[in-house]
Amino acid sequence: MAESFQERLKALRERISAACARSGRGGRPVRIVAVTKTHPAETVQAVIDAGLPDIGENRVQEIMDKAPGLTGTRCLHMVGHLQTNKVAKVVPLVDWIQSVDSARLADKIETQAAKAGRSISALVQVNTSGEESKSGCAPEQAIELCERVAACTHVSFHGLMTVGPLDASERETKQCFERLRNIGESCRHLCDTVELSMGMSDDFEWAIEEGATIIRVGSLLLGARPYP
Ligand SMILES: *Cc1c(COP(=O)(O)O)cnc(C)c1O
Repeated sequence: MAESFQERLKALRERISAACARSGRGGRPVRIVAVTKTHPAETVQAVIDAGLPDIGENRVQEIMDKAPGLTGTRCLHMVGHLQTNKVAKVVPLVDWIQSVDSARLADKIETQAAKAGRSISALVQVNTSGEESKSGCAPEQAIELCERVAACTHVSFHGLMTVGPLDASERETKQCFERLRNIGESCRHLCDTVELSMGMSDDFEWAIEEGATIIRVGSLLLGARPYP
């Protein structure tokens, strides 16, 4: 895997740079979260060893299976829908939860983080496409939820996350990302830098052009997922 992974990472970084240049944004680099869901722990470790410390996973069971054995500097991001009854299991294992989509979930993370003596970085997930299959709070509820997260003691509010629409045009996809950016503008009083986690393998360039500060990339870096 090593060589092809390095080549893919290099190609990804070049495309990120080009998208940044196109959108005329300087300075702040785009943070890459490598989404390793369905890949074995050895692959996750190889990604970390290759110099990508930000790892994204979307299922609690997989995090429980893989996280305890990892070594080296790393930062684990829960990017999938999180049920309140599983919060206690993930809080000790992850650093970021990008999928906070209800007040109930935020409160639960706060309680469990306090219990575990941890601080969790959080993003509020917004359903910007309105697709029923998507998790995330409604755009109209986002700011209130962001305020609630920002008021927590053991959860620190860092911004917003969204998943772009499936198989949509550039215009429709960018409208969703623009929607997230606009909500982010209204949250600027809540944290130093409002992160915008948007863009995956198929739409990260559009996301960067719309202001993404974090992209979540799986298949483009690791190839097609080996569904068990
Ligand atoms: C799987 C997943 C990704 C990565 O998807 P790719 O298309 O493989 O890049 C990003 N974000 C979330 C929330 C995911 O579930």
